[in-house]
Amino acid sequence: MGKTRSKCTLNLQKRVVNPMATGKLELVFISTPGIGNLVPLFEFAHLLVDHDPRFSATILIVTMPQRPLVNTYVQSRAAAAASNIRLIHLPAVETPSPDQFQNSIAYISMLIEKHRPHVKHAITDLMAAAIESDSNHFPSRIAGLFIDMFTTSMIDVANELGIPCYLYFASPATFLGFMLHLPILDSKLNPTDLSGLDSDLVLPEFVNPVPPSVLPSSVLQKEGYAWFLHHARRYAETKGIIVNTFVELEPHSVNGVRSRQVPAVYPIGPALDLAGPAQWHPDQVHHRKVMTWLDDQPPSSVVFLCFGSMGSLSGPQVKEIAIGLERTGLHFLWALRGPPKTQLHLPSEYKDPNEVLPNGFLERTAGVGLVCGWVSQVSILAHKAIGGFVSHCGWNSILESLWHGVPIATWPVYAEQQMNAFQMVRELGLAVEITLDYRAGSDLVVADEVERGIKRLMDGDDEVRRKVKEMGKKSRMAMMENGSSYTSLGALIEALVGN
Ligand code: UDP
Repeated sequence: MGKTRSKCTLNLQKRVVNPMATGKLELVFISTPGIGNLVPLFEFAHLLVDHDPRFSATILIVTMPQRPLVNTYVQSRAAAAASNIRLIHLPAVETPSPDQFQNSIAYISMLIEKHRPHVKHAITDLMAAAIESDSNHFPSRIAGLFIDMFTTSMIDVANELGIPCYLYFASPATFLGFMLHLPILDSKLNPTDLSGLDSDLVLPEFVNPVPPSVLPSSVLQKEGYAWFLHHARRYAETKGIIVNTFVELEPHSVNGVRSRQVPAVYPIGPALDLAGPAQWHPDQVHHRKVMTWLDDQPPSSVVFLCFGSMGSLSGPQVKEIAIGLERTGLHFLWALRGPPKTQLHLPSEYKDPNEVLPNGFLERTAGVGLVCGWVSQVSILAHKAIGGFVSHCGWNSILESLWHGVPIATWPVYAEQQMNAFQMVRELGLAVEITLDYRAGSDLVVADEVERGIKRLMDGDDEVRRKVKEMGKKSRMAMMENGSSYTSLGALIEALVGN
């Protein structure tokens, strides 16, 4: 890994700047320990240091023992890191038992907050090292601390140390708008949570009113709501908000966010790791087996099903998918994973998927389908055999799918995915609907609906396919020299240098 940089990075032309003329500028990053948070943060750090030789980056790592796959990713990045990117593992902290938390965001927010003294210590050391490195009368300095949507407690550290703090938002501008709206909504709510919300939300980031049924499960629950509100309130304290999106995809939403009283907004995406887990996942044999199988399938013939880094569905739901999929008669690749050990763990891998699939399913579909565990999703989306993607609508997955021009059928499972699905289908017409408001555990999409949705995805909607291909081209253009995201990254760099 590290040798194959993503295409979007390759497309960027470096600025011609003499680093000695200004001194080196250090950027510090801290992310929530999840694949969907860390990967885009690493890519963003790469974009900045690749764009301008004055920058170097330090990424502070919070470790969660429950997520060995995340730790594997971090280790691989550490091993392959370029000289201008370094990783610092923060010391472990004592936490109350995760069982005491209803909601994983509540636990993770608390875990991160406990790292505050370690983050302060690490940045203080970096500042001391920067001063010592002053050999040309142009001292190095820390030009910015980048936090993500759940690491807002580090705003305090930035304030204490006098460092400008920026929010890096790895979800769409629509969801950023929702977060920015939460404090306003909260002042009108009684009782103070969203469980009783029965009317649609009218937000400047959405063309349509947003039904409560597509709000994230976490904010509909007391503990989660309190934490989301807590983080959202702090966003306005930052000096700028960087969003992993591009204006051509979300023009209305980016304008909507900008119309609020918020810090400067920089859409710099899509920042993608186009090499993906194919470069770092320990099970390369499995990866090669999947890719070889795809090589044997006709172009655009395969529907790919994958429900995210944290996605696993109930036994009855898996059976309904299997029945619906089999009825379509289409070629398929299904990343099927089992329940996690706890809500903080990533889903487990089935030793034998027969334990959850209908009797004889694997034998009957052996000629047309492949059921597998964790896969390098972005490598699969890049394969010419893929014709459609049944996706949980995580934002990284949406950006990857658009980049490769593969249409999505929406099946949101957790986090802000219901809202993303709503945006893709109702706001942008860039996806086919299977469900927009699915709640894992309580809902069941029956086989008929699965069959209908997949057939529509693969055979039915040429207009969606055409629009997706066009948006894919726009996403690549946005990252090229003078593209919208390239320009926005340049504006951010000017601001960082001027701090
Ligand atoms: N991913 C993958 N293989 C899988 C599941 C997920 O490579 O089996 C990658 C996917 O390509 C994406 C990231 O994990 O880059 C998931 O991020 P996203 O924002 O889509 O959803 P999350 O998992 O954070 O909910």
